[in-house]
Amino acid sequence: MKRIEFNLPDSLYDALLERMQSDRTSCDHVVSTALSQCLGKPLHTLFQVSTSAALVEGLYQGAVRVSRLLRHGDFGLGTFIDLDGEMVVLEGVCYRVSSDGVVTSVDGDRLVPYAVVTRFSTEFAKTSQQFNTFSELVAVCDALRSSENVFFAFRVEGKFSFVKTRAMKAVPHGTGLKAASSVQEEFTFKDQEGTLVGLWSPGFAGSFSVPGYHFHFLSTDRKRGGHVLECRAVNVTIDGCAMHEMHVSLPETAEFLQADLSRDPSDDLTSAERNHER
Ligand SMILES: [Zn+2]
Repeated sequence: MKRIEFNLPDSLYDALLERMQSDRTSCDHVVSTALSQCLGKPLHTLFQVSTSAALVEGLYQGAVRVSRLLRHGDFGLGTFIDLDGEMVVLEGVCYRVSSDGVVTSVDGDRLVPYAVVTRFSTEFAKTSQQFNTFSELVAVCDALRSSENVFFAFRVEGKFSFVKTRAMKAVPHGTGLKAASSVQEEFTFKDQEGTLVGLWSPGFAGSFSVPGYHFHFLSTDRKRGGHVLECRAVNVTIDGCAMHEMHVSLPETAEFLQADLSRDPSDDLTSAERNHER
């Protein structure tokens, strides 16, 4: 989020105050909505590269460049060609967590096979939140969601007493996601300041998205991260927003165009994305 100061004619200032009062809303909301309409930049659109069904079938070839991804969002997650690492997009920077745990920022020219991003802005927030397990985090976020039928972005920020993540390593061409996730590298971090970048997708979006919650972690010093399997925190802030629009960019590769993507990917996704010890 950016903060700007600008000069406004008295008439517009009065109209702005009137609108804030009549809609019982904030100055931020009125100005953001007006600018979004005037500049043709929709707020809270989910931009997605490829689909979860394609991932499950082992289609990990590059489809969209990181620079294009970042034009559509400053917050999100994804993966890299051949599943070589975990992607975290935070504050407009795309990071890669490699299977040896090293975090690097990613060049704009790099192609990615799957990613989901949005322009994050806070619509709701709760401070002093705590959870002992991933399931408790899910329950806290569930209480903040106003619907089962739109997408949500969640940013969880603060000090985590425990985070367990995994980072995929590159797999041979054609390996399905379930098989690929069985050879993952896992990491545990203690007393780590950082951010969970999270997305929640409705069940009906299962062929496109990972249904339910999907969190990637990035430490404040940008040295640790990965796909979150478990976590614990006693005092973190959770903020988020709902997303009512979705833009999906489908790969143009021959492999994607000819693939059979008719199989329901949900069982393989559940197995690949969750903590195997639970
Ligand atoms: Zn992930």
